Amino acid sequence: MASIGWIGLGHMGGPMTANLVAAGHTVRGFDLSEEALAAAVGHGVTAAGSIAQAIEGAEVVFTMLPKGEHAKAVYLGEGGILETVGTDVLLVDSSTIDIESAQALHDAAAAHGNRFVDAPVSGGISGAEAGTLTFMVGGHDDAVRDASAYIEPMAGNIIPTGAATTGQAAKICNNLMLFINLASTSEGAVLADRLGLDRKVFWDIASVSSGDSWALRTWYPLPGVVPTAASNNEFAPTFTTELAHKDINLALSAARQTGTPLVLAEQVSSMFETLVQDGKKGLDCSAIVQLVDGTHQPGAATPATTTGGAA
Ligand code: NAD
Repeated sequence: MASIGWIGLGHMGGPMTANLVAAGHTVRGFDLSEEALAAAVGHGVTAAGSIAQAIEGAEVVFTMLPKGEHAKAVYLGEGGILETVGTDVLLVDSSTIDIESAQALHDAAAAHGNRFVDAPVSGGISGAEAGTLTFMVGGHDDAVRDASAYIEPMAGNIIPTGAATTGQAAKICNNLMLFINLASTSEGAVLADRLGLDRKVFWDIASVSSGDSWALRTWYPLPGVVPTAASNNEFAPTFTTELAHKDINLALSAARQTGTPLVLAEQVSSMFETLVQDGKKGLDCSAIVQLVDGTHQPGAATPATTTGGAA
């Protein structure tokens, strides 16, 4: 069994490491949040006091961090991974980050002599807990093949995407569609309510009809329909509005670089921006429905707990 270093034990990294431990691997983890670290220790991760401690003796290192700036700090910054890691260690970044940052990590790892893959995931907290995430893995064939062996206990699907950064490209386009689907589901759900339809009856119809989507089945934004959806739990976060805003803007940035008009993404981005600016960056992204049903009030408090949801 392998010795694995892990940086970033949040909503996703926590349950992902639980599955590696359950598969018999030794996982040594580090997170800036003591709460996240303590939760991971609760499911068998060995706590490290620094990045250097987490990666000591590891044959593979995973990172699961919020944004490109965090990933760059953890790999390239003072006390970061590339400062102390041995050149035989395989590096896997599963964060969702911008393509430029992902390329910078590929380049820096290669210059240091390490193999690196970008390996973002889809499937949300529920997929992380169940070990059924879809991994999109970009990089050299041999690194992708070797990373896949370590990824396996966390994955339902492992899909090689091609050259460096193509994993991030796939993830960015997937989440562009996800958040537009979430916004359209919010509009359909609220309108159905106001037309007098029973909530569950409408969901039963849409989920087997052409209005179906993963967002509808997993993140239904009105309560009392999908039991694990954050709408039943005052939008306690499974995937925050802040991260949703980040992801849709990754798509908009890529769109600008490729001259691609993304009219719907612009609109959905501005909706998430409103929530973020009005103090709701820590709420679940399905709180976008509040801009449709009129319950949005600037300055709402951020709940401290999480639900067992999804992305
Ligand atoms: P999160 O904010 O819950 O977890 C990130 C963790 O990284 C936090 O615990 C934070 O303390 C830690 N961290 C930040 N900087 C650090 C540093 N310098 N050193 C050590 N730890 C550091 O985020 P999450 O929901 O787990 O998402 C992680 C990534 O996965 C994001 O890129 C997100 O877009 C992506 N993602 C999330 C979901 C989801 O449903 N939550 C689904 C798919 C992909």
